[in-house]
Amino acid sequence: MDKNLLTIDSVRNAVQSRDTTAFSIAEAHYSRIQQEDEQIGAYLTLCKDRALEQADRMDRMAAEGKVLPPLGGVPVAIKDVMSTRGVRTTAGSKILDNYIPPYDCTAVARLEAAGAVVLGKTNCDEFAMGSSNENSAYRPVRNPRDLTRVPGGSSGGSAAAVAADMAVCSLGSDTGGSIRQPASFCGVVGLMPTYGRVSRYGLIAFASSLDHIGPLTRTVRDAATVLRTIAGRDPMDSTSADVPVPDYVAEIEKPVRGLKLGVAKEYFGEGLNDEVRQAVELAVDRLKGLGCEVVPVSLPHTSYAIPAYYLIATAEASSNLARYDGVRYGHRAGGVKSLSEMYRRTRDEGFGAEVKRRIMLGTYALSAGYYDAYYLKAQKVRTLLAQDFEDAFRNVDAIVTPTSPTAAFRLGEKSDDPLAMYLADIYTVTADLAGIPGISIPCGETKERLPIGLQILGRHFDEATILRVAHAYEQE
Ligand code: GLN
Repeated sequence: MDKNLLTIDSVRNAVQSRDTTAFSIAEAHYSRIQQEDEQIGAYLTLCKDRALEQADRMDRMAAEGKVLPPLGGVPVAIKDVMSTRGVRTTAGSKILDNYIPPYDCTAVARLEAAGAVVLGKTNCDEFAMGSSNENSAYRPVRNPRDLTRVPGGSSGGSAAAVAADMAVCSLGSDTGGSIRQPASFCGVVGLMPTYGRVSRYGLIAFASSLDHIGPLTRTVRDAATVLRTIAGRDPMDSTSADVPVPDYVAEIEKPVRGLKLGVAKEYFGEGLNDEVRQAVELAVDRLKGLGCEVVPVSLPHTSYAIPAYYLIATAEASSNLARYDGVRYGHRAGGVKSLSEMYRRTRDEGFGAEVKRRIMLGTYALSAGYYDAYYLKAQKVRTLLAQDFEDAFRNVDAIVTPTSPTAAFRLGEKSDDPLAMYLADIYTVTADLAGIPGISIPCGETKERLPIGLQILGRHFDEATILRVAHAYEQE
């Protein structure tokens, strides 16, 4: 892999000036994938024809002297929860093993319209349910930094592909941390935009009020470029917001001096690994050195976030996943004698253990007699969490926290203990519940050389500020 061609601008400019071709860059990525990915397992499906055709289109544009679009010739990877027309899309599940969507996800279509070369679809936890990628029905993903460890989840394949130079950038989805946590475990940048900033059209639904699409990249500038490309109102998703999209790439260059950064004690409590704490505290000091003012803030309902999340997310999942019944698409059980047996056997054969656990938890939480005690209560907690942030953002411009309480754990370490796995999402689920944007950027390593992530949270639709702080830190 050419080490001069690791960022969006460097690839695009090299293709534009015809120093190299998009075709040869795509080919180089495919040979890298062939060499590395048997070990890592980041990709589930490659779409070489589609990629090379697009690369060729970009090369022809450059040859004709036309100005390339912002991602002209840039190899990207797409988490396999986003529909791609004519390209198998499994959501990491056996129930969609044979599913070939007839349409493209809006975010993917926008990337391609901006010149990106889609190399393939990345591995993930089944229906994006997980924090380690071990819930993929196909195979686990291994962390490129240490093959005995998980890459995080659920967008583990998207993070690993970027970290192992098998894509310049990728798209992931975040419902409770699934972009930011794998970004932190793999040492890349992961951005979850505000809820509604990026269309969810064509994203296979997990929990619709919490699902977000966003980029995983090597640099903050690349995250800004991808967000600028995929953000904005889409008539195909009624929850996509009609809010103007700033030029994030210009915004990141603005100075950070004088910005107020909040630090909440609730994010530095019990369970936080010492090395992670030290790295994050050092990062906060660096930001102070850059002229930011650091202010203590309080987010008093934080400890209720995990239970609220695992009620709301499972309730919505139980409803969203009702559609996988073997009738219209996906796996259908054979040799059955009745319609109800067909439904039961299809779902029993098609879904993995974690997905079944969540469907049962969610169905229970929504059932008559328990709805008020669980689902409704969780929604009230969600409102309180959102108010915590609203109050804090009256005094600060952004909030700085660790992304995850630990660095990447070992494969198998938590897979028999769902509760321990759920608790690892403690610093990320709050932003999903409140609908605010968050970014994770690398901020050092543990003694074992495992990456540590710094999370920066912002006000609704203020991705520009968190990108700006992240960029200033990264430059430093
Ligand atoms: N780890 C969380 C879960 O298992 C978050 C997943 C996600 O963001 N998609 O639900």
